[in-house]
Amino acid sequence: MSDAVLIIEDEYKLRGLVRSYLEREGLVVYSTGSGAEAIEIGRRGGLGLVVLDLGLPDVPGEEVARELRKTSDVPVLLLTAKGEERDRIAGFELGADDYVTKPFSPRELVLRAKALLRRGRVQVEPAGRVSFGGGELLIEEDLQRVWVRGELVELTPTERGVLTALARVPGRVYSRYELINLVRGYEFDGYERTMNSHIKNLRRKVEVSPGNPRVIETVLGAGYRLGLSRDH
Ligand code: CA
Repeated sequence: MSDAVLIIEDEYKLRGLVRSYLEREGLVVYSTGSGAEAIEIGRRGGLGLVVLDLGLPDVPGEEVARELRKTSDVPVLLLTAKGEERDRIAGFELGADDYVTKPFSPRELVLRAKALLRRGRVQVEPAGRVSFGGGELLIEEDLQRVWVRGELVELTPTERGVLTALARVPGRVYSRYELINLVRGYEFDGYERTMNSHIKNLRRKVEVSPGNPRVIETVLGAGYRLGLSRDH
């Protein structure tokens, strides 16, 4: 995984400021004020993180995020204007990973950026055997088996698909819409609403206390995330 960061921000001064703080951390930084150019850069790949302002003059930030998601799992950190909670939630729906609200402290931005870069490096290999939460959860994707606290659990193909999707990037929030897209290969029946019942069934099988879930966490207004970190 790359340490290259792409900053998309049309305010010249702010763009320069963000760039200088990230460069001070030893990161390779590309920057642009154009959403269209950002999509082009994103298509070339090789990015470890994208810092995205939602309010861009040419292409809306939402569309930039959507385009980036078509070709890549790169973590996205949103820059949002103060109090625009709707923008923030829309951002999560589009697959953004975190956000900072303007005006933000450079230190906060750097900490969040570095956390996302670390997270981006721990993706599940397609055919791998991956363990989470100190062995609490073990996914053997090629064998289509899931172990929870040492016990093999019987999951439906959809449940296994949802869990495997959440485990792609632990801690990242996946919206229902995104989960549906990720598990569509498992003959998913298509309605966003039914994701709630799949999650409910899945929790009954994997949580110690389904009413107080720790493995599959709900992020209100945004979606779900895996609450366990990946073991190394
Ligand atoms: Ca702007």
